[in-house]
Amino acid sequence: KIKTRFAPSPTGYLHIGGVRTALYSWLFAHHMGGEFVLRIEDTDLERSTQEAIDAIMDGMNWLNIGWDEGPYFQTKRMDRYNSVIESMLNNGTAYKCYCSKERLEKLRTKQMMEGLKPRYDGRCRHHQNPPSDKTLSVIRFGNPEEGFVIFKDKIRGEIKFSNKELDDLIIRRSDGLPTYNFCVVIDDWEMGITHVIRGEDHINNTPRQINILKALNAPIPEYAHVSMILGENGQKLSKRFNAVGIMEYRDQGYLPQALLNYLVRLGWSYGDQEIFSVDEMKTLFTLEAVSKSAASFNTEKLLWLNHHYINHLPTEEVAVHLAWHIEKAGFNTDQGPELVEIVKLLGERCKTLKEMAESCRYFYEEFEQFDENAAKKHLRAQAYEPLSQVRIKLAALSEWAKEEIQNAIESTAKELGIGMGKIGMPLRVAATGQAQSPALHLTIHAIGQARTLARIEKALT
Ligand code: GLU
Repeated sequence: KIKTRFAPSPTGYLHIGGVRTALYSWLFAHHMGGEFVLRIEDTDLERSTQEAIDAIMDGMNWLNIGWDEGPYFQTKRMDRYNSVIESMLNNGTAYKCYCSKERLEKLRTKQMMEGLKPRYDGRCRHHQNPPSDKTLSVIRFGNPEEGFVIFKDKIRGEIKFSNKELDDLIIRRSDGLPTYNFCVVIDDWEMGITHVIRGEDHINNTPRQINILKALNAPIPEYAHVSMILGENGQKLSKRFNAVGIMEYRDQGYLPQALLNYLVRLGWSYGDQEIFSVDEMKTLFTLEAVSKSAASFNTEKLLWLNHHYINHLPTEEVAVHLAWHIEKAGFNTDQGPELVEIVKLLGERCKTLKEMAESCRYFYEEFEQFDENAAKKHLRAQAYEPLSQVRIKLAALSEWAKEEIQNAIESTAKELGIGMGKIGMPLRVAATGQAQSPALHLTIHAIGQARTLARIEKALT
């Protein structure tokens, strides 16, 4: 059975690079009818925080990337790691190393001065004379000294490392804690991971991990290393350019569907198709179609997708997200149109839900004053007559219907012999406080009769 995992270290934000890796692992597993595991790699006790763990869970929940197994926590699996280390010491695939910090430091300096890559020289591997039982030791993995590690990366093709370049990795530190590379190996093995999909920054760990797996007679999973995401400027992602937590995208008004669609296309393609539902992603996703080269972030495209989803998802669903933003903006929508009406009215005009929440306020709340420029331009003396006339007609409507409202506006213009703009603009400014809105009769309809009349009154005085 195919099994993949997402294995974040909870040491900071869950950022888009991580989310894309999780997405690809999840899609691949489900494409293959397999399972997806969430594993929290929290062995770095100093840098791991509960806050970061929460941020990972929140982000995955918001995006609806569900895990079939887990979450596992490495800190809860220490006994497993230690018992494997014991067995490795017993069968000679690992050994205790008593070299002092000073010796290692000297060795390192010497190697660097000789232009060599710093690397443990295997002293304790070859003559094991423990200085005394009390001396602190680390435990090292006895890496093969000859030959190569070759693996076929599902995205990048064949990758080859010489064992001569690989260190005898420390698998347990002197404080008794197993190290990161070791925990990953044991977990991937014991959790039955068949495909390790992760960032390309882990390529150098892969040969070391493969060697440990071999020493344990464990099956070697397939590997796929996903490329980096670069900023808009082609540089590394920076604070300004999207190296922010994933929830920041929610705060900025993006829909989870838009972000998923954006991320799946960032480094993967299927012909020239741009829009993918999650079901389609699962049906179509393959690792072979993932690109080797780094992808650049493109905010324009993300906005375009967000606009698409605002207008194509069921309005009820968009309304739920909009409600969250309105609550954040701090106004109440009890008195006014249903939120689905707002989504229908403003969808075309808004690229984010934050924007929508900000621009629908006047449907629910009185505004303090008319926009200054709009009022100067459209609420002048010559607007008085058309506004009073249309007010009378709107007040007389027994049914507050869109068509009736349109008729009232048109007939006022006709009776006064003026163009639609001469009545439409003053009415728009009066009703909404500003010079821009969706189609006037629809807007006024949603604002409601009593509120519209009161606002016209205010404009007339
Ligand atoms: N915990 C590692 C990280 O957050 C990922 C390890 C892996 O996927 O093998 O970068």
